[in-house]
Amino acid sequence: MSDPKYRRVILKISGEGLCSSGSSGIDGAELNRIANELKIVADLGVEVGVVVGGGNIVRGSTIAKDSPIEETTGHYMGMLATVINALAVQDTLESLGVATRVQSALEVANVAERFIRRRAMRHLEKGRVVIFAGGTGNPFVTTDTGAALRAAEVRADLLLKATKVDGVYTADPSVDPSATRLDRLTYNQVIDKRLEVMDVSAIDLCQRSGIPIIVLNLRKAGNMRAAVMGEHIGTRISADD
Ligand code: UDP
Repeated sequence: MSDPKYRRVILKISGEGLCSSGSSGIDGAELNRIANELKIVADLGVEVGVVVGGGNIVRGSTIAKDSPIEETTGHYMGMLATVINALAVQDTLESLGVATRVQSALEVANVAERFIRRRAMRHLEKGRVVIFAGGTGNPFVTTDTGAALRAAEVRADLLLKATKVDGVYTADPSVDPSATRLDRLTYNQVIDKRLEVMDVSAIDLCQRSGIPIIVLNLRKAGNMRAAVMGEHIGTRISADD
């Protein structure tokens, strides 16, 4: 059997990946599905970090609209939502026998370590799945940027971005039936064509750090394993050839 192509990967899961389609909150079946995929990859000996979103609970800009909540407060609420999700992912992974640590960019000492880069790298080397909560710790950005930041900081060699569809499409396939999937893109193409894959700051950071991104559907069993084995899955975003 061949070896995995990637040694250390960061997976970005949005909050909506943790709830059943069209709803909010956290769904046990979805958690189990994701944790099983992560376990398969961790069992290959690949070092895995997970950055969780919080949009299934709170999005800062949304909650601040038409409410007395200041937008900045809304963003902190969103970051706290990612801590809730991280704890859910942690317990699910541990129920499958996977060793984990949660590191948070926000101080929540009772439930998570604070993010310390060198400690995170040590956990990864020891085979623990590190779940990064709290995004970047700063308001007005998203966990996509947090994922790119952590990937660069821990020197990951791949960033996986889980989405509801099989990769990046020419248009939204749920709206436009003629939309086609793009197999490969360069960082510059994503930025220039304003493709809504991840925040521009996240793409830019991956470009500067030379970290390829694979956009894939985590709802299809085996996709994450296939990606780390180097099989062509979803859409790969990397430097110009
Ligand atoms: N957030 C933030 N700073 C960060 C990461 C997240 O302020 O570094 C807030 C922001 O309000 C965001 C919310 O947390 O809307 C939830 O994160 P995100 O929208 O990235 O979650 P996802 O869409 O991935 O579920």
